[in-house]
Amino acid sequence: MRLLVIEDEVKTAKFLKKGLGEAGFVVDVAHNGLDGFEFAKEVAFDLVILDIMLPGLDGWEVLSGLRQAGKTTQVLVLTARDSVHERVRGFELGADDYLVKPFAFSELLARVRSRLRRIPAPPQNVVRMADLEIDLLRQRATRAGQRLELTTKEFLLLSLLARRAGEVLSRTVIAEAVWDMNFDSETNVVDVSVRRLRSKVDDPFASKLIHTVRGSGYVLEAE
Ligand code: CA
Repeated sequence: MRLLVIEDEVKTAKFLKKGLGEAGFVVDVAHNGLDGFEFAKEVAFDLVILDIMLPGLDGWEVLSGLRQAGKTTQVLVLTARDSVHERVRGFELGADDYLVKPFAFSELLARVRSRLRRIPAPPQNVVRMADLEIDLLRQRATRAGQRLELTTKEFLLLSLLARRAGEVLSRTVIAEAVWDMNFDSETNVVDVSVRRLRSKVDDPFASKLIHTVRGSGYVLEAE
């Protein structure tokens, strides 16, 4: 895990580098806002510890600059100001956490560890598109509340199209994902399967969800 500490007070920066290093993190330090900003833009840090009162760019400018540049790196803001107003501003600018100086190192460490343990939300179990509903866990699909009787491969094919709804999937991509095979241009297994799937998913209903994109492949999309 690689962290960046942006802190102008040399003593505090040293103390953080040492403490976090001992806790097993790789720690880089920047002593002003501009260097910190450039560093955080260039390197994929797992977390940035950001002081607010900094020369060059202040912490708020660093934070908003990173978010504007599309960086989603977690940012823990350190500041001497403990007002609700400042805290709200920090979160609005995209801070992930906030710690008021002076702080105990043990608290900082606990916050850092807790931030880094957070894992992305589990994938959705139910995918919906118009009146189509696919329960990935129970392997069931319904349209307009009616159960669709699908074979295992048809279910896989529909799930693939639904999880990547709006994206045109080539026959090669589909063949690899559903049949675990390299697409052989001699076989039309994908087209045949899509046709069968359509007969169940689309034919009985007025609005069509599975569309053919000539020369490219198939896409699941509400009309
Ligand atoms: Ca400072």
